Amino acid sequence: MNTFVVIAAAILGTIVGSALSVTITRTRTGANLGKRSRCLSCGKVLSASELIPVFSWLLQGGRCKSCRTKIPAFYPALEITTAAVFALTTYAFLWLAPGGWFGNPIFWMTLFSWLVLSSVMIFLGVYDIRHLKLHSQGLWVLLAAGIVMGVFGIWTGTQYIVLGAIAPELLLVRVFAAAVAAMFLYALWFLSNGKWFGSGDVPILVLSVFLFGTLPALSALAIAAWVAVLWAIAMWLASAIVQKKFTRTGLIRKLPFLPFIFIGIYVVGVWGLHVFGIIGGTL
Ligand SMILES: [Zn+2]
Repeated sequence: MNTFVVIAAAILGTIVGSALSVTITRTRTGANLGKRSRCLSCGKVLSASELIPVFSWLLQGGRCKSCRTKIPAFYPALEITTAAVFALTTYAFLWLAPGGWFGNPIFWMTLFSWLVLSSVMIFLGVYDIRHLKLHSQGLWVLLAAGIVMGVFGIWTGTQYIVLGAIAPELLLVRVFAAAVAAMFLYALWFLSNGKWFGSGDVPILVLSVFLFGTLPALSALAIAAWVAVLWAIAMWLASAIVQKKFTRTGLIRKLPFLPFIFIGIYVVGVWGLHVFGIIGGTL
């Protein structure tokens, strides 16, 4: 039964990923989001069999059925990524909260919340990588979804679970922690003339303090920084191997940090990897 639920989540993920990829590419070309999908090269309206996530692309050899123009691997890649995130999220909540999940509204509310939040994070992260700018309406959707989750959920020390309404005094503590974090981060932002942060970094970091509390939010930030550094080194090594020479300049290229913050929030919230909690626990 668990396997079936994880597979169903993965299939849902490919559909959501397909919708995300279309939204990410069309919002820049000005094409109407409500219209039927067309081939960007020959303009043919795509049939139902050409719209199946991942499989259509594989079966057609990555090309348009009519004009044989190559369809970028970006589409199936994003569909597979979203499917993997959906499957992993579902697995995390089944695995870490076993027993009686089927009739358990907490399980379903938590899963649904994280699937929505993850989808918006994938959208914003990929949009940032592709267009090198923040999608501001997407940021508002993320903040709204995060605030709703924060009001109705709680960090248990291992995962972020949606419980229904939480105690008002707990909510006050969270609002206070988020306000302190906001003042601190905006002070840094002001001091650095906005150079230390990309647009969107500060509100999303404040949101993670509101969701998790200060120390787990710092864990998310640390994970984001470590993954970003590893990614930069991997990219530098890859380009050095391709070009057969090692240069220092390749290492300092500016990375958008937003996708890495999302990885941090996801890893802490869904997988409960609270590094500072683990370090604190062993000391
Ligand atoms: Zn075509």
